[in-house]
Amino acid sequence: MAKMNPFEMFLKQVDEAMPYLNVEQEYIDILKEPKEVLEVAIPLKLDDGTVQIVKGWRAHHNNALGPYKGGVRYHPNVSREEVTALSAWMSIKCATAMLPYGGGKGGVRVSPHDLTKNELERLSRAYAMSIIRFTGTDIDVPAPDVYTDPQIMSWFIDTYEKIKGRNEPSCYTGKPVGLGGSLGRGDATSRGGMYVLREALREIGLLGKPLTAAIQGFGNVGSNAHKLFGEIGITVVAASDSKGGTYNPKGLDYAALIAHKKSGGTVADYPEGERITTDEILESQVDILIPAALEGVLTEANAGKVKAKTILELANGPTTPAAEQILHDNGAMVIPDVLANSGGVTVSCFEWIQGRSGDYWSEKTVHDKLDERLSMAFHEIWEIRKQHKIRMRQAAYVRAISRIVLAMRFRGIWP
Ligand code: NAD
Repeated sequence: MAKMNPFEMFLKQVDEAMPYLNVEQEYIDILKEPKEVLEVAIPLKLDDGTVQIVKGWRAHHNNALGPYKGGVRYHPNVSREEVTALSAWMSIKCATAMLPYGGGKGGVRVSPHDLTKNELERLSRAYAMSIIRFTGTDIDVPAPDVYTDPQIMSWFIDTYEKIKGRNEPSCYTGKPVGLGGSLGRGDATSRGGMYVLREALREIGLLGKPLTAAIQGFGNVGSNAHKLFGEIGITVVAASDSKGGTYNPKGLDYAALIAHKKSGGTVADYPEGERITTDEILESQVDILIPAALEGVLTEANAGKVKAKTILELANGPTTPAAEQILHDNGAMVIPDVLANSGGVTVSCFEWIQGRSGDYWSEKTVHDKLDERLSMAFHEIWEIRKQHKIRMRQAAYVRAISRIVLAMRFRGIWP
């Protein structure tokens, strides 16, 4: 079978929710296309004086519920299809978390680790300028994603504000706290995942039992999951990044692994673990598997070898529809990305609210509001799942699409 691209995965996921939806076909047809996709070619002057043309995109999927919202990814494999799929997943995710947003996403086809800091700044400013007609507090609010961070958000917002000639703190989120960022944004995606996982374990009677986890991806999301998940009694026994992984059945010490990475080591050469590959980690003997790197890593080729009975999708789109069916048939539960990793965009929304009002919240307020919102979203989706006897992803799509279509019906189809 030919490999599905991420947008085809999204279309299939919508089709799988269709039998449980009570909505007119025309709205589904609208959701099956992005509203607009901007493609840019950026001439990047390198420090040695040569010029490289870098391709970038910003996709707007749907804005029935509010401004487009979604991260910007820097990665050598970024494509128009990937960015478009990610923007569609953002529409579903924002509706799942009951946020006043639609779905957007950006991507730049580049290997950021090959650039100097000055080159990265020039590229980031050029990208923010190229998409400026697409962005703004009430239009489209970008944020960090793979290989972008608060420093890059700072260059984005500075470029935007200087060109517009005004201060506009909520036109980007994921900023450093010293530049209008929110407390609690740094680990929000992983923390939100922890709250969702805690509620899932409560429902299936495993909360409080000694459980093990493997985490694929050791960036912002994966490493913060490692830091936090001990709070709900989970021992992380395997972790990996793009260069490989490490396994220790007694558990990996978070502080020691981070110190090892900071001193120039890699996850794979961590001395307190046994070396494993980026693929082997997915088949680890653990209770919980946490993909936290890129999409399409669980496929029909490896899903049958997954031993974990709970898969928490902190990455976007890590499980293909065929893999999800295999996992389901084998008795595993997939907690889908649109719910599991919605903590990041939820705290981005909190940052957006704080920037608009000038009223900045304590970290405890951010954590409490995040917990309340995601626990509620989880239980509503859990009820839909039980009512129709469907998978969690189908239930999340039923809830999200119903909400988006309700807003679209009120608006009417115009122009
Ligand atoms: P990041 O750039 O901080 O980290 C990505 C990590 O993945 C790195 O450790 C990298 O080495 C690793 N990686 C890349 N290819 C790999 C491979 N083949 N095997 C194992 N590891 C590999 O990115 P991030 O912000 O942590 O995002 C990770 C995932 O979470 C992405 O799918 C992203 O879309 C999703 N996500 C992020 C946020 C957020 O707030 N940052 C929010 C929602 C979803």
